[in-house]
Amino acid sequence: MIVLLNGSYLPAEQARISPLDRGFLFGDGIYEVIPSYGGRPVGLQLHLERLKRGLAAIGIPNPLTDAEWRVAVRELGERNGGGDLGIYLHISRGDEGRRLHRYPEGVTPTVFGMAFAIEPPPPAPDRHRQPGLRVTTAEDLRWQRCHIKSTSLLGNVMHYQAGHAAGMHETILYNSAGELTEASVSNVFVVRHGEVATPLLDHQKLPGITRHICLESLRAEGSIPVRERVVTLAEAREADEIWITNSARQIAPVVELDGRPVGSGQVGEVWERAMRIYDAAKYED
Ligand code: PLP
Repeated sequence: MIVLLNGSYLPAEQARISPLDRGFLFGDGIYEVIPSYGGRPVGLQLHLERLKRGLAAIGIPNPLTDAEWRVAVRELGERNGGGDLGIYLHISRGDEGRRLHRYPEGVTPTVFGMAFAIEPPPPAPDRHRQPGLRVTTAEDLRWQRCHIKSTSLLGNVMHYQAGHAAGMHETILYNSAGELTEASVSNVFVVRHGEVATPLLDHQKLPGITRHICLESLRAEGSIPVRERVVTLAEAREADEIWITNSARQIAPVVELDGRPVGSGQVGEVWERAMRIYDAAKYED
């Protein structure tokens, strides 16, 4: 794999980062994963806007311009053979030569990028061929700033691992009021009586780019009612369909929740329609 480290492209095994880098010591950084299919990124400008918001939120100067980020995304894709890739960008606050909690002044951020294979999207979404996911639930025990795409992911990792250890594909999270927040690596949608609903954005969830494109494309197309609102765990248990969304999986249908079938236990027909609408809208050009 060819990676980007502070302006240079080199084999991953040659890339070196200081152990005093605040990314290593504190998880002090911001990241993005941009899906790219055959060299065509999905939601690239939306990802760059979120990256800039995240950097501003934690006071790391943006080390590159949008044009430079776009070149980095293209180069990482091309140098890693094109195809279907997640392009990973990571900016940490850098290395000031010692370990102090306060943000240092004048330290150059570390910029790292890589690319990894992701599943190709099916040419035409077909619910009879699409494997559905099995997921579990847990009370959301992460920090209170989940809207920032921080590289401090231990809370997410622990939730994901709990589901993984139980043979599940994902862990859907709810807060102390029994309201869904998101999942350990994805946002959540539920479908009931033909209405698609997803939890409102706030500090408890990441504003997912896939979520955004899904919502906006469904709204623009108009045939499926869609709402952002409070969604409870109790509702999820009664749902006809559940989907989880992220850049690696796009919109993935869930067929089992905590050992019980979701709806009929088959991938739903609203998912198939939504996937077609999303697919038709997902590229910028
Ligand atoms: N929520 C969490 C916690 C995530 O880690 C991710 C993606 O990694 C998402 C939601 C989905 O975001 P996106 O659609 O931008 O990939």
